[in-house]
Parts: sequence; C-alpha cells; structure tokens
Amino acid sequence: MALIALEGMKFYAFHGVYEAERVLGNDYTVDVIVETGIAAASASDSLNDAIINYETVFQICLVEMSKPRNLLEAVVGSIIRNMKVQFPFMKSVRVRVRKLNPPVYGRLMQESRTAHAVPGQAESAWVEDEVSLVSKCPRCKVDFLCYKDDTCWCKTISIHPATLENLKRQFGTSCLCSDCMKLYKG
Ligand SMILES: [Zn+2]
Ligand SMILES: [Zn+2]
Repeated sequence: MALIALEGMKFYAFHGVYEAERVLGNDYTVDVIVETGIAAASASDSLNDAIINYETVFQICLVEMSKPRNLLEAVVGSIIRNMKVQFPFMKSVRVRVRKLNPPVYGRLMQESRTAHAVPGQAESAWVEDEVSLVSKCPRCKVDFLCYKDDTCWCKTISIHPATLENLKRQFGTSCLCSDCMKLYKG
C-alpha cells in the first residue's frame, strides 16, 4: 500500500451559509490523501496515468475552493469527483476541507424568556469524506479498481447493448475487471 498526500493546502474562500462568510470569507485548509499501488496499469496502457501529480491535485482544489458553496460537503464531493476524473489508479481517496475560525453562535434564554445570541469560538470546522474504489470482480473474483460512476475506465469500453444486457442479468450492474471486460468487448 502506498499513500500519497498533499496536506494543509491553504486557501481564502467564501463558502458558508452566513452572509458574512459569503462577503468577508474565511481561511481554509484542504488535505487530499490518495492510496495507490494496485498492480495498476491493467486498465490502461499509459503509465503516466499512474502518477499522482501534486500540481494537478492543487489545481483541482484551487478551482473548487474558488466556487462559493453553502456546505463544505459539496466542496469535498466535487474535489473527490475531479480527482476521480484526473487519476484513474486510486484505490481510495480522502479529502478534508477545514474552515478556520468558523463563526459559531449559541443561544441562551434570558430571564425575560427571550433568547439572545452568544458568539462562540472554535479553531476549525471540517468535513471529510473517503471513497474506496476497490471492487471484487463478480466474474473472476479478483480485486480491481472500479470508480462506480461515469468516471470509471469501463465507460470507455464499447460493449454491444445485447451483450451488456446479458452481463447485467448474470453479474448485476457492477463492473467486471478489465481482463473479463475484454472478453465481451465489441
Ligand atoms: Zn474479472
Ligand atoms: Zn467500473
């Protein structure tokens, strides 16, 4: 197993549901951790695809961080999606987006029974998601990489619609490994 990470990337961004966050912005850090190392290249002939390039990772984060969103979940989700598009040989990818010094407000009841807002302090608020991209081939039982959506390598392989129907009946909707897939190509 090999881990490749780019941690603590710093951004100034405008995510959040509070007006002030949308106008004034916040400091953020982003971590991206990728697990690679499956006897990869069976899905493609290009070894270049196997390399996780830091600059591309940073570029993905830069673009996604620059689009203001209400929820950090949405930011994390798009970074993961773009990682899948760029890097076909990940076993898993983990992304954490951390908002530094987020605005937090509590509410206390006063004796008059009206609530008044109490500003609080927190070091950071963060959202992390990790997706595992290793599947077991339902035909030959070998472990292989399946991205489970339209970013998967298998979408580039053309299979006759009738054959595809047959495969779905036999193996369900999950991908087969590339060796098995080759048997049905055409
Ligand atoms: Zn297989
Ligand atoms: Zn697939």
